[in-house]
Amino acid sequence: MVKIYMDYNATTPILSEVKETIMETLDVYGNPSSMHKYGRMAKSIVDKARNQVADLINADPKEILFTSCGSESNNLVLKGNMCKKKCCTGFIPNMEGHIITSTIEHPSVLNTCVALNKNGKKVTFLEVDRGGLIKFDQLKKAAAEPADLISIMWANNEIGTIQDMAAITEFAHQKEIKVHSDAVQVIGKIPIDVKKIPVDFLSISGHKIGAPKGIGVLYLKKNTVLCPLIHGGHQEACRRAGTENTIGIAAIGKACEVAKRDLQKNTEILSRLRERLEQKILQNIPDVMINGDVNHRLPHVTNITFKYIEGESILMMLDQQGIAVSTGSACSTGSLEPSHVLLAIGLKDFDAHGSIRFSLGPGIDEEQIDYTFNALEKIIKRLRFISPLG
Ligand code: PLP
Repeated sequence: MVKIYMDYNATTPILSEVKETIMETLDVYGNPSSMHKYGRMAKSIVDKARNQVADLINADPKEILFTSCGSESNNLVLKGNMCKKKCCTGFIPNMEGHIITSTIEHPSVLNTCVALNKNGKKVTFLEVDRGGLIKFDQLKKAAAEPADLISIMWANNEIGTIQDMAAITEFAHQKEIKVHSDAVQVIGKIPIDVKKIPVDFLSISGHKIGAPKGIGVLYLKKNTVLCPLIHGGHQEACRRAGTENTIGIAAIGKACEVAKRDLQKNTEILSRLRERLEQKILQNIPDVMINGDVNHRLPHVTNITFKYIEGESILMMLDQQGIAVSTGSACSTGSLEPSHVLLAIGLKDFDAHGSIRFSLGPGIDEEQIDYTFNALEKIIKRLRFISPLG
């Protein structure tokens, strides 16, 4: 059976080098907080990983905080930043302020902001243009009112559009507003340097870069105050209690080291493969359109609307052929809702439903691209033939 995995934005296979690191770490069972040899061995693993993560984004290791996932990192910033005082035991919410975010954020940002808003926090949700870039005039208008935080994802997980984080950060800092960016989908795909683009907070997730699920990172600029979501011991400089997930931490550290080493090579290969797939589709399948800003896009993602048919049918038929992709719909209370991202960039419900995201990774080659295209072409013909809209 053919196995073609084109859903790297959903999650990634664990890299072989990361597996090796995990195996080496399994026997290091000390608690990193213990002072004896066992504890010191575990602590050195955590320290090494902190350096590896910091190295990838040009941060100071002290600015790296380990969490359980990208969602936790996002929640920690949005909720923890509401605190006005530096504290280890108290959560002193600052409900007065104002968060500015966008309508195309991942649910871990969007739903957190909705929840905060329901509890009295002012939140502005910026609209995006047809390509998925935030509207700067709206940002300026929103920031005319005092704000604590601007939270804009570096690149979108569904359409791959990359925001102009340099301009957003410069603008925010002129206004003395802190900047958070959900960088879960950009790590290892485009270079990120927090000295060059000095965001205050940055979220990273292990399972998107070849580490296992259940480990994340929050970059937190030096001297930034943030109250913990999890109170308890003094781990992670009092900002996130709980005995460290030594194995996950070692894994994400290694994954970051590999991401730095392979970034350029992967970008070149993946953008070429993406181009090959897109060209074949555009040249041979009528009534298709690419979603997202093709000039500001992650190198490995393409989101395509196949008009007159449902994405779920395409997905299921590709799956039968051994090809894994994802659709522009999300399961919400038992029914399929069109993606909020595709609606936000102006797609109609039926076009959003007919969209497929192909997200490529290092396991893909030209043969797999051609196999996928050939299977897809037949599937689209067949579905359009039986579709009442086709
Ligand atoms: N942010 C973005 C852009 C994502 O794509 C995801 C996962 O899909 C997350 C955050 C959440 O990351 P995690 O699965 O580690 O909680």
